[in-house]
Amino acid sequence: MYRTQNCGELRLAHVGKEVSLAGWMHKSRDLGGMTFIDLRDRYGKTQLVFNMETDKELCGSARKLGRESVVQVQGIVRERSSKNNQMLTGDIEIEVKELKVLNSAKTPPFTLEDDTDGGEELRMKYRYLDIRRDKVKNNLIFRHQVALEVRKYLSDLDFIEVETPYLIKSTPEGARDFIVPSRMNQGMFYALPQSPQTFKQLLMVAGMDKYFQIVKCFRDEDLRADRQPEFTQIDCEMSFIEQEDILNVFEGLTRHLLKTLKGADVEDFPRMTYDEAMKRFGNDKPDIRFGMEFGELNDVTQHKDFGVFNSAELVVGIAVPAGNQYSRKEIDQLIDWVKRPQIGALGMVYVRCNDDGTYKSSVDKFYDQDDLAQWAERTGAKPGDLICVLSGVKNKVRAQLSALRMEMGERLGLRKPDEFAPLWVLDFPLLEWDEETERYHAMHHPFTSPKTEDMAKLDTDPGAVRANAYDLVLNGNEIGGGSIRIHDKQMQALMFKHLGFTPEEAKDQFGFLMDAFEYGAPPHGGLAFGLDRLVAILGGQESIRDFIAFPKNNAGRDVMIDSPSLINPEQLKELGIDLK
Ligand code: ASP
Repeated sequence: MYRTQNCGELRLAHVGKEVSLAGWMHKSRDLGGMTFIDLRDRYGKTQLVFNMETDKELCGSARKLGRESVVQVQGIVRERSSKNNQMLTGDIEIEVKELKVLNSAKTPPFTLEDDTDGGEELRMKYRYLDIRRDKVKNNLIFRHQVALEVRKYLSDLDFIEVETPYLIKSTPEGARDFIVPSRMNQGMFYALPQSPQTFKQLLMVAGMDKYFQIVKCFRDEDLRADRQPEFTQIDCEMSFIEQEDILNVFEGLTRHLLKTLKGADVEDFPRMTYDEAMKRFGNDKPDIRFGMEFGELNDVTQHKDFGVFNSAELVVGIAVPAGNQYSRKEIDQLIDWVKRPQIGALGMVYVRCNDDGTYKSSVDKFYDQDDLAQWAERTGAKPGDLICVLSGVKNKVRAQLSALRMEMGERLGLRKPDEFAPLWVLDFPLLEWDEETERYHAMHHPFTSPKTEDMAKLDTDPGAVRANAYDLVLNGNEIGGGSIRIHDKQMQALMFKHLGFTPEEAKDQFGFLMDAFEYGAPPHGGLAFGLDRLVAILGGQESIRDFIAFPKNNAGRDVMIDSPSLINPEQLKELGIDLK
């Protein structure tokens, strides 16, 4: 038997007992005739004591132990004279009688402490060491708890977890597919699913009624910061439901997770249409933990001779609380910030709102106090605030000002990690114009149903057609999204037509789904949560990587196993792939 207890288990009640423990040598200290060692495993740390006077040889071997060696000890539990209330086992220590080295360890390339000296790349290369650190370990345990609560909650509501295949057919669902060559069908390829979308819909046709799956999805996208080529979804689908039913069920799930994992009671799940979110926050996933709402200023700016504003599609501003404190230099830095290529604004107009109710702006040449007072009213600016105004093409300006709003929210400490503000964003557009391919794409995916009352606009004004699609936003992050689906073959065919598919292409790629719709498809809908991000936000952090056991780096590489990598010519030959 390697151990009678784990390293987080022993308490005063065990004093006097003979125990054995196994774990890693975390740290050792020599104090005069004594050596103290912290023995660590997943459950905690326990202090071991060796006494030079009573057992010279044993103490000598303890002193020789390198960090991270794997050891087994036997000894007696003693009450500590100086207790450590930072440690679960801080009341006791083990007076060691026997020490066995189970395996030696090289010195780790970075310190395995909360504050490590290891850079990201190094920690990823030695991820198995990184996971020994409490921080990463606890994140993985937390992720497990979230997944467990999800499974419990949904199972209690009669959802069934069903696995769907990973080797599927390449279909356009927005991103690029990862492709897997087939050896048995040379020249042909599987694709890894971007999501189990069509399968879960087929499960509804199959009568499963309520489905969920915690499932890996794969998207071969250019990696933006904090995206992973493979990620995990909580994927869900329900039959005989309307949008309201879905919102209720998943509001319930989110409330349950916030309550059980964070002790947070969040009653309110406000709702906002996509149009409203864009107008008020410039963003379809607004962080509503703080204000700084957009004030549109076209009519109160375009009546003077300021050409920049007059030629803009949208002039819009926000009031930064207490921003009038900023020095000229600090404001110039803000202007530089919005002009960075990542944000892309051409400039920024600002108005200082003085405590005496007067205004001082960067465009005083064009606008008088009455004008500026109107801007203040629109943006909700109070004396002491700073109004920041951007202008240009509507979509771009909104994105730029939204980035500034989030940045200021962050700088002002308004994005508190322990405060949770969910929000449903509803009525997304059905279609989105793609500049590159010069055609419409499904904004959510091609299986999303349009709003009946907007159907007539499909031919005349496709961009204005709204979908029965919704996103759940938490603290400025999209944590879930879904839609009520099309369940009628004709309707699905019509949708493919509007997305630019010929009937042959539609049949070739989605014939299986349209065929299934002819055998009694129930009305259905669903959504998927991004588990990685959900866990990170619940964990009060922004980076999903810290909640994934073996993540890939920004270039999509696993630097630990060194993948992707070349494969040998034999393998290629077997697959019938000629790289030349
Ligand atoms: N399959 C969709 C996605 O991956 C979610 C859904 O519509 O249920 O975004």
